[in-house]
Amino acid sequence: MADLMQRLAGEIQEFKNQGIYKKLNHLTSPQASRVQMEGRGEVIVLSSNNYLGLSNDADVVAGGKKALDDLGAGTSSVRFICGTFSVHRELEEALARFVGTEAALSYVSCWSANTGLMGTFLDDSDAIISDALNHASIIDGIRICKAKRAVYAHSDMTDLEEKLKAHKDARTRFIVTDGVFSMEGDIAKLPDILELARKYDAVVCVDDSHSTGVLGQTGRGTAEHFGVLGEVDIITSTLGKALGGAAGGFTASSEALVDYLIQRSRPQLFSNALPPTVAASSLAALTKLESTPALMDTLRDNTSYFRNGLVELGFKPLAGETPIVPVIVGETALAIQMSEDLLEEGVFVTGFGFPVVPKGEARLRCQISAAHTRDDLDAVLTAFRKVGQKHGLLGAAGQG
Ligand SMILES: *Cc1c(COP(=O)(O)O)cnc(C)c1O
Repeated sequence: MADLMQRLAGEIQEFKNQGIYKKLNHLTSPQASRVQMEGRGEVIVLSSNNYLGLSNDADVVAGGKKALDDLGAGTSSVRFICGTFSVHRELEEALARFVGTEAALSYVSCWSANTGLMGTFLDDSDAIISDALNHASIIDGIRICKAKRAVYAHSDMTDLEEKLKAHKDARTRFIVTDGVFSMEGDIAKLPDILELARKYDAVVCVDDSHSTGVLGQTGRGTAEHFGVLGEVDIITSTLGKALGGAAGGFTASSEALVDYLIQRSRPQLFSNALPPTVAASSLAALTKLESTPALMDTLRDNTSYFRNGLVELGFKPLAGETPIVPVIVGETALAIQMSEDLLEEGVFVTGFGFPVVPKGEARLRCQISAAHTRDDLDAVLTAFRKVGQKHGLLGAAGQG
């Protein structure tokens, strides 16, 4: 044990030397556009997945509280033994309706949904073809599956086609992609992927974690964004981002596929079900989104207001239309320094560097929420101007 502890302490020191050591910031108020941070006071949050501001919405909180009173704290079991409550069925029916599939199955996280998916029904007769920038949970889901693997260059449809051709003899070709890529904020080329899938007889799975409640006129995700609702074979997504932000995830697909997951998906069989409180607050979040179309309008308006504001200041955010707005600053150390300077100015935004993103493309990843007011966004832009000037990042436009 002493040897192990010494090795870990050495590696942690190395993280600190390289400037990649993560320090946790503790919040003492609910997730919202402004939060109380221990030792800092009030800060504006620009790095949460609370895209619709539902984490602390009164109806969402009330939904969770009522379930706590009615159903207690936990399930005390996995789904198939005695851990399934009526609220799970209600949530799953609502989710399936929302994303346009026959059925849906909840998990304690989208991490569980993804790691409980591919290995459940694919083996070495099959091939998984995965985008190079897919989320870690998809990568781990592939690792614990015996299927053959191919990774295509990010959103490169020529490369995807090559990989499909290379695996034409596989029993099942399984294409898997994020809907919105979390570090770039760009959207998968879903219509092209679907066309290739038809040409090469492949199954398409889209992880909509950053798209559910974000993309499409009514927040139904990547398929709605491209007008192909109902055409994606399998959708996985999280309840831990736009839909209340507590925890939980789901897989939505055909009745048969969902039934098979209930029978065989290991996180379903060997790990507790989603707590009823969280199922109920997530259901309340979904109901709120469906009954309040203005939420999506506000998210879109806030996003374009912030993007335009950054460009006017002279920053160069990655182009795009999602509320993930990455501002590339170059070196990792600069991204981390700017993140600290912005926090000093009362703005909480995380810097990401190598190895999470390519060398020289370190960035501040801003995430916009419907909960931000114009005052919030103006205060953020003022802080960005000050910090950008300090580091000489702004052209003439930002100096005025
Ligand atoms: C956040 C995220 C997940 C993990 O979601 P959890 O429900 O928090 O486990 C999975 N996939 C993608 C693409 C994500 O962005």
